Amino acid sequence: MKKSEEYKNSTKKDSEQIIKALIDFYPEATCSLNYKDPFELLVALILAAQCTDERVNKIIPILFDKYKTVNDIANASYEDIEKIIKPCGFYKNKAKNIVDTANIIVDKFNSNVPDTMEELCTLKGIGRKSSNIILQECFSKIEGIAVDTHVTRISRKIGLSNGKSQQEIEKDLMSMFDKKYWNKINHVLVYHGRAICIANRPKCSQCPISKFCKKNK
Ligand code: SF4
Repeated sequence: MKKSEEYKNSTKKDSEQIIKALIDFYPEATCSLNYKDPFELLVALILAAQCTDERVNKIIPILFDKYKTVNDIANASYEDIEKIIKPCGFYKNKAKNIVDTANIIVDKFNSNVPDTMEELCTLKGIGRKSSNIILQECFSKIEGIAVDTHVTRISRKIGLSNGKSQQEIEKDLMSMFDKKYWNKINHVLVYHGRAICIANRPKCSQCPISKFCKKNK
């Protein structure tokens, strides 16, 4: 058996204990992007790629102070949006995705952010991870688990998945956790990744799930 295959060895019983321990440890864990409506969250998620949520939370009010609706953004030039979102990095690509997505929403969805996974995934710069967050946060629909960099890294460490892609990891997590926990998993693992299981310098002595960690086994 290859090493990567040996690594995934937490059980369903472990997963229940892991999620309960994390929810107890991070009772406040929630989406850390600020937004007033589904379109603001969608834009925030595009901006959040390779950028901190803190920085995105500073840029979103500036952007939506100038462009109040999805139609306003659809009519903006890429250059106008670039100037505002530049601090978030990759601003040319992100500006294009934001304006193009606004145009798709205006043209195909009557200016409303769609509420299905299939439709959300047709938008520019929006994949399953962001779609899961939008569905969960804005429409109370739980269809999957949002897998980002923290979820990927920690899921491997604690033996929940050895998937190579976000899709494989999401599939593993959906089979490991009862559906009632799906909306919590991203939030608690993001909090854990920021506070304790920090990449390259984890504070293992403070970790509430250290007994499940495969890191040193
Ligand atoms: S024991 Fe350390 S490496 Fe393992 S999950 Fe906890 S903080 Fe991360």
